[in-house]
Amino acid sequence: MKLSDSFAELRALIRSHDIEPNAFDTLFIPEPYEPVDDELPSNGLKIKLSEVASRGGLFAHNNRQVLLYMQKHTRTGRFESAIKGVVEEQNKYHLCKCKHIKKEESENREGNYVITEDLSGTFFICGGKDAKTGVIPEGYAKLNVCKMCLEALNYKGYRDYALRKEIFQEFNLADFFCDYGALFNRITSRVAGNKYEEDYSKDWKKISLELRDRSKWECSECSVNFGKRSELLHVHHVNGVRRDNKGTNLRVLCVDCHKKQPNHAHLHLKHYDAKRINLLRRHQGLLDDVSWDNVKKYADTCVYGFLDLCKEMDLPAPQVAIVVDNVYFDLAWPDKSLGLVIDTEQGGLNGLRERSGWYATGLDKEFLALESFVKRLAGFLNLEGRGFEL
Ligand SMILES: [Zn+2]
Ligand SMILES: [Zn+2]
Ligand SMILES: [Zn+2]
Repeated sequence: MKLSDSFAELRALIRSHDIEPNAFDTLFIPEPYEPVDDELPSNGLKIKLSEVASRGGLFAHNNRQVLLYMQKHTRTGRFESAIKGVVEEQNKYHLCKCKHIKKEESENREGNYVITEDLSGTFFICGGKDAKTGVIPEGYAKLNVCKMCLEALNYKGYRDYALRKEIFQEFNLADFFCDYGALFNRITSRVAGNKYEEDYSKDWKKISLELRDRSKWECSECSVNFGKRSELLHVHHVNGVRRDNKGTNLRVLCVDCHKKQPNHAHLHLKHYDAKRINLLRRHQGLLDDVSWDNVKKYADTCVYGFLDLCKEMDLPAPQVAIVVDNVYFDLAWPDKSLGLVIDTEQGGLNGLRERSGWYATGLDKEFLALESFVKRLAGFLNLEGRGFEL
């Protein structure tokens, strides 16, 4: 394993800066907060299919995640039925470039699509123009998520037939956006705006600080230790009631472990911060024994669908947070010098293969072909002496 070698450079960097190893995250320069000032209109924005941006196959607008759907329900009677909630008559909303969208693209159909960042699940729809009156009927309808999208992403293990029905029924847009937040620098205000500040008791800041001090700035779930005050360590209310500050209801959690608790879709963990936490975990030896039993505890939620598929195909568990030649791999198989990067814009990726012999593949690129990618990966991990063609 090359794990310890990978960090020699970073350790040397720490020594050269003459700082305490547990002040590891001072190596990072904080990123400025980007306020969202260009919200989409509340009824969405009409867009040509060929002009919709995507990140990892998920739809994007100005680096924020959005949904895609067709407002028009033109066939006779379809609009009226859609408003009444007849599921078969309703257009579905799409999360990513699923089979359906790819087919539309391949047939050059622009299809009157609209993008929206409204996560309420209720969508503005319209019908066809009435031939006599010229009126276009309009209204709001609760629409359902496209099942092909869930399958493309293997969302929550959707490819397992036994789980499908439940995953579909319990699908929640806010949770979904939270799960894939690492692919986007910014988050829609429709999620980010929910700060719930009024829900906390007046002395909450003091209680929270005291508790984190007492815990010596260590996460009670993954044991990552920040060594000093850090905005990446939170105090969580176990029962979800933010005024219930009795000791048994409070848990000190790093923001990654906190985000992975139920009902925490309001937490947006930037990939940059997830990386800071994982580098600390790696530095503190917490990632030395990652296996299929615990990989999800440390990996970003946006790779869960990928991990489930890898496990199902009996691939060896990847390592989390490996640095090679200053490139950060979110997941890696070090004995094959192969890994997956979420941040495909990080420096150092160009020429990495020539410098270190490592193959880096971007989630961005591979999301669209999750299954064929995992099959290719399986072939590579099980066979010796074959290059992993990217
Ligand atoms: Zn779809
Ligand atoms: Zn933690
Ligand atoms: Zn919480």
